Amino acid sequence: MREAYQEVWENCLKIIKDNVNYQSYKTWFSPIKSIKLDNNVLTIQVPSQFFYEWLEEHYITLLKKTIKHELGPSGRLEYSIIMENSNDPRAPYTIKVPTSNRSVLNNPSVSMPIDLNKGSSKEIPNPFVIPGLRKIQVHSQLNESYSFENFIEGDCNRLARSAGYAVATNPGKTAFNPIFIYSPNGLGKTHLAHAIGIQVKNNFPEKTVLYVTAEQFIQQFVDSVKNQNQNDFVHFYQMIDVLLIDDIQFLSGKEKTQDVFFHIFNHLHQNGNQLVITSDKAPVEIKGIEPRLLSRFKWGLAADLQVPDLETRIAILNKRLYKDGIEMPQDVIEYLAYSITTNVRELEGALISLMAQSSLNKKAITIELARQMIDKFVKNTSKEISIDFIQKIVCDFFNIHVDHLNSKTRKREIVQARQLAMFFSKKHTKSSLATIGLHCGNKDHATVLHACRTVNNLIETDKQFRNYVEEIEKKIKL
Ligand code: ADP
Ligand code: MG
Repeated sequence: MREAYQEVWENCLKIIKDNVNYQSYKTWFSPIKSIKLDNNVLTIQVPSQFFYEWLEEHYITLLKKTIKHELGPSGRLEYSIIMENSNDPRAPYTIKVPTSNRSVLNNPSVSMPIDLNKGSSKEIPNPFVIPGLRKIQVHSQLNESYSFENFIEGDCNRLARSAGYAVATNPGKTAFNPIFIYSPNGLGKTHLAHAIGIQVKNNFPEKTVLYVTAEQFIQQFVDSVKNQNQNDFVHFYQMIDVLLIDDIQFLSGKEKTQDVFFHIFNHLHQNGNQLVITSDKAPVEIKGIEPRLLSRFKWGLAADLQVPDLETRIAILNKRLYKDGIEMPQDVIEYLAYSITTNVRELEGALISLMAQSSLNKKAITIELARQMIDKFVKNTSKEISIDFIQKIVCDFFNIHVDHLNSKTRKREIVQARQLAMFFSKKHTKSSLATIGLHCGNKDHATVLHACRTVNNLIETDKQFRNYVEEIEKKIKL
């Protein structure tokens, strides 16, 4: 027979599943066991202290809401943590901890509305609750952890970041209005938009700041039409001092919403209020948006975010680890940064999965574990062979330091490693000869061409060399 504690937790899981993405669910909720229900206190067993802390940090609001939904207002949650030194899995040594009362407002992983009435459409909190009042209380929807402080600067984002900072220091008063930030997914647009909002709030507590996704905006507009309070909707938005609107490309094809946004935009702009817009494409490339709106997007500054280089990727990982108070061997960090090159979100996802894996299986975090994890979780989606990655493989193979490749030295073994790095870069990346040369010791395209010819000749004439090439090739493709 199914016990009450099992049933309650199963119902909780159904709600949780609808509110977190699949990978997070697998990582953080599947390993949890429910073990007791006593006096309306549900006890769940988590595999480690780390798990407990992670849940408390990232999912506490969701967990609390879910428990209250299942057990009523007096419902509570308690953790039973399996401690590291327990040897007998049947009777794990556990400690009990109640949930903290820390408030974690604004955390993106929990700010999604819970779908309590299955089947009905998800409700987005309607922000314009007090029509007619000038001074309104607006929940800014900002996520504290997406601050400037936590946003690593690199060549990839320097312009957007510093313009964003200038805007936050002087909202509505710089030439950057609107500031339009664009990039492919996972490169920091949302983070930067929040950072601007947070900074404005710090500098000018009296200013009304609002972060919304374009999707929320559309939904609110549709609701306002349905509820016949479209004017309240428009007035609400016209009262905002700094409006951050994320993923504007979702307005494509939504003519009515574009129309109302056009009026809101004009009103805010004319009154010297700041607009911050993000998009997955440059203004000229967005389709399905009216020209009069697109042309306004170009009034201020359009700045893109690019793929971060290796150093920036390493810095992002280190920052994240530091923030979470976790230590990880530097070579593992570098391995992650070498392997995942095109998307910061995936880079962080890999880091988190790795920590969870290690915590779950009580294994040390090693390169080997990282490699397995990357194979399982991310290889198919993001492994793109880069020049950096090739250099690392070649250097590891000959046991030399990457810096040597980029030095002027003419030592035979270094020259050979450099030529191989050039050869494999030509073969496995789409980079031009000039780019490859630039990254491999600041050489010109002719040198790269020469290197490729030399390697091809040696492959044909030197058996041992051919073996090297085959070995390295295998490692690159691993
Ligand atoms: P986008 O909105 O472009 O899809 P996000 O802003 O959601 O991307 O960023 C994805 C993840 O990567 C977030 O967790 C964010 O904090 C992180 N991130 C992106 N760029 C940086 C950076 N320069 N420094 C620190 N973290 C970053
Ligand atoms: Mg985003």
